[in-house]
Amino acid sequence: MSKRIQAGWALLLVGWMAALVGDAANGEAEVTELQAQLLEQIVADARETRGYTGRAQLSQRVLDVMAAVPRHAFVDRYGTASAYANRPLPIGHGQTISQPFIVALMTDLLDLEADHRVLEIGTGSGYQAAVLAALVKQVYTIEIIPALAQEAERRFEQLGIENIAVKTGDGYFGWPEAGPFDGIMITAVGPDIPPDLLAQLKVGGRMVLPVGSQYGAQNLKVVTRLEDGRHKAEDVLPVAFVPLTGDH
Ligand code: SAM
Repeated sequence: MSKRIQAGWALLLVGWMAALVGDAANGEAEVTELQAQLLEQIVADARETRGYTGRAQLSQRVLDVMAAVPRHAFVDRYGTASAYANRPLPIGHGQTISQPFIVALMTDLLDLEADHRVLEIGTGSGYQAAVLAALVKQVYTIEIIPALAQEAERRFEQLGIENIAVKTGDGYFGWPEAGPFDGIMITAVGPDIPPDLLAQLKVGGRMVLPVGSQYGAQNLKVVTRLEDGRHKAEDVLPVAFVPLTGDH
């Protein structure tokens, strides 16, 4: 190959690599911008719903994590603009990833601390579990659809998230060997508070879950486990979730 042709190739290669690096930088800048816009909407939604939730502001720790966890990595079939829109999205198998504001609110309502161990029912895409994992020591998550559980596990591996354990099965019965938990979150709606899950909650621990019917009214509830097997349940916000399925 002549020196002139070699130099031409080298220039082409440098130009191509610069374009690739430029694209990656543009992509990162776009994600940062979309994450910032989403955060503003979450903050605004929190203010607007304070009459229901009693929380005009979510904790800064939760907001920081919402700004940092890459939602686009959990909804890889969509573009980044859809991934950072403040709305639920289909994730296949008739299931959805929840609206980011609801993810932030449910996370906030658990009042998490860094040394907590948390159980999530309804892994779905894995996004909510990743948000929880950025705030606490260990997350356990159960998904009833095997393909979704496997996909979520693959995403956690790819993202280097090591403090989430995934199980395939009916989360209505919880994960007794791993309990008791400081917090439990259910991301699918059922008609009651699952008694096995209540039993796996520490005294003083909180459970956040939607209760109601698939096509009727649903309410987000916060349940606190009290001494002597008692509990206190508070209604927080009307919501719309996919059903908790299984033979329970
Ligand atoms: N948390 C998820 C995320 O971040 O993508 C979204 C959850 S989606 C709204 C509800 C999930 O609950 C679905 O993936 C569904 O398959 C799952 N599910 C429904 N019934 C279940 C059950 N009995 N046990 C475990 N998972 C269940």
